[in-house]
Amino acid sequence: MRVRRQPVRTCTACRTTDQKRRLMRVVRLTDGTAVYDSGGKMNGRGAYVCAAADCIEQARKQKRLERALRLENMPSTLFEQLLHAAEEMALQQSLPETREGE
Ligand SMILES: [Zn+2]
Repeated sequence: MRVRRQPVRTCTACRTTDQKRRLMRVVRLTDGTAVYDSGGKMNGRGAYVCAAADCIEQARKQKRLERALRLENMPSTLFEQLLHAAEEMALQQSLPETREGE
């Protein structure tokens, strides 16, 4: 099997490969734990999920990340972390509109 230098990033939940969508990377470390790789540069087997609560929830319910990373289970804190990171990204991406009355 050929290893691509730039693997296509696919959300494990909705399977989108849209490059415009922010995908968050989860990495399986050598000791078998999974962590959110905010920089996207950690070594290890990676799986992606959209920075969207829907996808994170779906991935959690359907154990998509576990399957992708071949792990028995994920720490629930990881999902909390992903949800939090997704929220942060959403806040950063949507430019705050000037509200009247402030
Ligand atoms: Zn998705």
